[in-house]
Amino acid sequence: MLIKRQLATVLLVLLPLMAGAQERRFTIKEAEKLVPREIRKPVKSMIPGEKPPVHDTLDTSDPAVKILLMNDGTWHYERDITTLADSAVFRNNWKTGELNPYRSKLEDLPWKVTLCLADSASRFCVPRQVKVFSPFGWRRRRNHTGVDLPLPTGMPVYAAFDGKVRCSMYNRGYGNVVVIRHASGLETTYAHLAERKVEPGQYVSAGDVIGLGGSTGRSTGPHLHFETRYEGYAFDPQWLIDFESGTLRHGYFVLKRKYLSNTSRYYPESEDEEEEIYKTEEEERAEAERIAKEMAAAKYHTIQSGDTLLGLAAKYHTSVNAICKLNGITPSTTLRIGKKLRVK
Ligand SMILES: [Zn+2]
Repeated sequence: MLIKRQLATVLLVLLPLMAGAQERRFTIKEAEKLVPREIRKPVKSMIPGEKPPVHDTLDTSDPAVKILLMNDGTWHYERDITTLADSAVFRNNWKTGELNPYRSKLEDLPWKVTLCLADSASRFCVPRQVKVFSPFGWRRRRNHTGVDLPLPTGMPVYAAFDGKVRCSMYNRGYGNVVVIRHASGLETTYAHLAERKVEPGQYVSAGDVIGLGGSTGRSTGPHLHFETRYEGYAFDPQWLIDFESGTLRHGYFVLKRKYLSNTSRYYPESEDEEEEIYKTEEEERAEAERIAKEMAAAKYHTIQSGDTLLGLAAKYHTSVNAICKLNGITPSTTLRIGKKLRVK
């Protein structure tokens, strides 16, 4: 144990060095605060099946997180999700025979929720690296609740993230289908499999083979139908994964309620939106305060006979343009007597 502790100290001293940080000795307590670290950038898929043999395992102060020392000299953190067996995510709405056991109303869901998909203690594996053949959403008057990925019969299909298998069953439409629930609450669905390799209740790691490609159920040829769902609502898996390059777009993903619709397809985010997504709680509070202040400082004018926009602009020391912008009107809009206009 003592030797393990010392080894851990060495590793934890190396950690900041490897990250290119200034030389500074972390105590174990300090370093463990960094575990797991968030990953706020795209995550490359692991290479499935490539797991160097584990040489030794070290504890951290978090019972769910271990340090794995590999035979090849590398090491990484690993979260043992079986420690989450009793958590709500693996107990609530847990039905092994029902593809969608959720009953929540869309309007009752939060307007956005952050899903931790992969961090420094968990990994990602693209279920099948290939260009999307058929996208998410409406197509030919039929609703497509996932993406179709070309996949020859018998080729392995990989679990995208660590999780617990909820369904492994046959369904008329989906054929042989596997549903995995992940610690974030996200569920991933793998359909039309020729063979299923996992059983309900089984814990899987990212990259584990969960089945083989096929064309069972309502399918016109061998392919993988892959779905991502939150609270039972499907959203475009391309929000999460760039299937062609095999990249997870975000380790931490902000799922917006508006994505949970068959009319909402993935679109590349602008830099601005990216920034908006990663606003911290503090920044959000500051913005809410700024808006509240602005609202409190707002001034209104009730239109009286003879009022003109030019006159109001002069009276309130503002401009016609500014008044138009605040009220969503144009300079030629007729001012109705008795109507309230925001002037500041
Ligand atoms: Zn499909």
